Amino acid sequence: MAGTCKRAVFVGPKQIRFDELPIPEPGPRQALVKVKACALCTWEQRVYTGEEHFYPLAGGHEVSGELVKLGRQVYTDTQIGDRVMASPLTRCGYCESCRRGLDNICDNNRKPFRETDVPGPAGLAEYILLEDYQLYKANNDAPFEEICLAEPLACVLRSVRKAGVKRTDNVVVVGAGIMGLFHLMLAKQIGARVIISEPNPERTAFAQEMGADEVIDPTQEMFAGQVKASTNGRGADVVFCAASTAQAVEQAVEAVAKGGRVHIYASIHPRGDKISIDPNTFHSKEIVLTGTMSQDKEDVLQTVRMISQGLVDLKPFISLILPFEKLEEGLQAALRSDTYRVVVTM
Ligand SMILES: [Zn+2]
Ligand SMILES: [Zn+2]
Repeated sequence: MAGTCKRAVFVGPKQIRFDELPIPEPGPRQALVKVKACALCTWEQRVYTGEEHFYPLAGGHEVSGELVKLGRQVYTDTQIGDRVMASPLTRCGYCESCRRGLDNICDNNRKPFRETDVPGPAGLAEYILLEDYQLYKANNDAPFEEICLAEPLACVLRSVRKAGVKRTDNVVVVGAGIMGLFHLMLAKQIGARVIISEPNPERTAFAQEMGADEVIDPTQEMFAGQVKASTNGRGADVVFCAASTAQAVEQAVEAVAKGGRVHIYASIHPRGDKISIDPNTFHSKEIVLTGTMSQDKEDVLQTVRMISQGLVDLKPFISLILPFEKLEEGLQAALRSDTYRVVVTM
């Protein structure tokens, strides 16, 4: 395709460069997508502030757009002009993790498959080149701003699925950011009772609006005591740590019921922090401490379908939509505690 397109690159703390590049040509097993929306995830926010030192980075991994061109060896039911979700996570398909069904943590996922001048998922651009398996067809009447959220929703779907949430379980979600609220939404769909633990009053009010059965403030009283008080003294069947501190994990272990699961969803910051837990807790309470990262192909397939079929309403989580050119403004807004997801549109 002739012509040029814009791409954003994080080059240093609070420094973004816009490149003008030729529109890429898809190889035999690639697809070219005209990006319509890209949501600004925590990873991009941390690179923007300098908390994660990863430069240069072609960021943007929550992406939706319109399929414009297919390589000659791509076998798909997606037609040119269709709405798609782009999942730029690389999954080699042949490493042992991929073959064991763990393509979300593919052994080669840090090795780019494409030769690019700047590493990264590169969804913050007007066009994105994808491998065939990274393309997910969405309904053509689903909004682009919601289709791109299939990526974070798929991470949470995996988390809720792996934690084995059951109907009538008492579930505690620590943290009422967008990821915590996605846990709330999916656990409620299963039929669990959900308690949100969050100190920020605006966020707890919003969590209640979104269906939380109870909210607790972990800074007020002992977390485990509050959880037990609201679960007939038993504790939670599942605690999701969607707030990234080591202390939250220790508290969750104290608050979990016999046979329960503590699930580490968010990466722990600062990196390298340790937890201290009496190992007898696992023995005497038969609890499981586990976690998930990212999503596999099936998780993405499911969330794209959920959004396409209107089984989830993601509009309340989109706090702001800005044009691509206002990316910096978008990142600054994304860092504020009164926003959930900020989306830029191309
Ligand atoms: Zn993300
Ligand atoms: Zn692999």
